[in-house]
Amino acid sequence: MRSSILLAAALAAAALITAPSAPGAAKPSVCAECVKANMERLAGEDLHGRACGSPDEHAAAQFIVETLKTSKIPGAFGPNVYLQPVQLLTPTAASPATLDVVSGDAHVTFIQGRDMVALEPPEALAAPLLALTDAEHTDLSAVKGRLVIYDSPIFDAPGVQALLKAGAAAVVSPASDQVLKRWDSLVARPPGRTVVQGVERAEVEPRGVTVFAKAETMAALRKLGPGEGTLIAPRGAPKQRTTYNIMGVLHGKAADADRHALLLTAHYDHLGVRNGVTFHGANDDASGTAAVLEFARILGAGPRHRRTVYFGLFGCEEEGELGAQYVQAHLPMAIGDLMANLEFEMIGVDDPKRPGALMLTGWDRTNLGPALQAHGAHVGPDLYPEQNFFQRSDNYQLALRGVIAQTVSAWPLPPTYHAPTDDLAHVDLAFMDSVIGSMVEPVTWLLDSDFQPEWLPGKKP
Ligand SMILES: [Zn+2]
Repeated sequence: MRSSILLAAALAAAALITAPSAPGAAKPSVCAECVKANMERLAGEDLHGRACGSPDEHAAAQFIVETLKTSKIPGAFGPNVYLQPVQLLTPTAASPATLDVVSGDAHVTFIQGRDMVALEPPEALAAPLLALTDAEHTDLSAVKGRLVIYDSPIFDAPGVQALLKAGAAAVVSPASDQVLKRWDSLVARPPGRTVVQGVERAEVEPRGVTVFAKAETMAALRKLGPGEGTLIAPRGAPKQRTTYNIMGVLHGKAADADRHALLLTAHYDHLGVRNGVTFHGANDDASGTAAVLEFARILGAGPRHRRTVYFGLFGCEEEGELGAQYVQAHLPMAIGDLMANLEFEMIGVDDPKRPGALMLTGWDRTNLGPALQAHGAHVGPDLYPEQNFFQRSDNYQLALRGVIAQTVSAWPLPPTYHAPTDDLAHVDLAFMDSVIGSMVEPVTWLLDSDFQPEWLPGKKP
């Protein structure tokens, strides 16, 4: 990571120049010691990377509650109630999945992990084989209901997608180098989606199974003629876990304060320990959590504002925005009373593409980003629209329900992303202080103004 001493001085100076202050009023400023202490606790050794539903994640939740209390932020789920438990049920494998292939006299069995990885395999599936070498020049009507052995020279992602879309029951194809690199973590994945209890799931169209095969597996399949394949994935008892969402609230002083509330959020979970290696998640997303806690400290200590502000810290984002899925269905306020949600994600590493600044996902979808920028926020458009970051964090769960919900990030693709190096040594605290500081004035402006964030025409997801 870049060294930050000179940069920090320059940024601090810039923050002082650009942040206007009300005449006579002391401008609230970021407490660098507080941000540092919160980062050290959340991304420190004691919390072991805050894995979804783990005792470490729960300890992080307790720490966050205590920090909100210290900042004089009341609980949002009831008098003195900060925590919202969320029950999760994750399917497990009783034994490794197997793929049995019978062709004439030949009978070969392939085993999950050793020979192949089937992603989210159903408990049982049987289908006639169909061998292909080129998905592009294939009559796709022939693949429906088949277990397709797609023997492409290299892994062909669009081809596999086309075959699955055409109704293939499963597609076995050679594992790419990328897949081989992530083999163990793909094998360790649960055989199905985690169920968030109390959340109705949208019906998803059944999709065929993707099976990545090692080279030896492809070679063995190549020798077989027409036949039948059976994929069996025995299930164990589902794994039960609890995660917690945390929310605090500062009610505004206007008569209709609660009808125009701002929700500031981050996710506080990370990946935990994998194969004995701790993924600390300092940037992802201890940094966003520390930002929300810093807003809570500043707003809790300052004068009351017109509009109400909520501080939400959600669990289990890394396993599919699970905490946010639950909270959007069990909000402590009417959803129509949310004026906007700003999610803070990965604000600890400066982006060389736009040094010293933040980006806002969904920038061109609403009028909020330009308004914040006009009030001094070091924030600009999403530089990576092809990555769909607007859809890749907790904000999206609320955006789907119509709330103006956008994510503030610094560099969303740093080299430390989801790596063991995402630790305290690789975040730039001075940069964090500077960008959080640049958001204080715009956030307090939003809380005192009549400004109504709106979707731009046709841009609501
Ligand atoms: Zn992440």
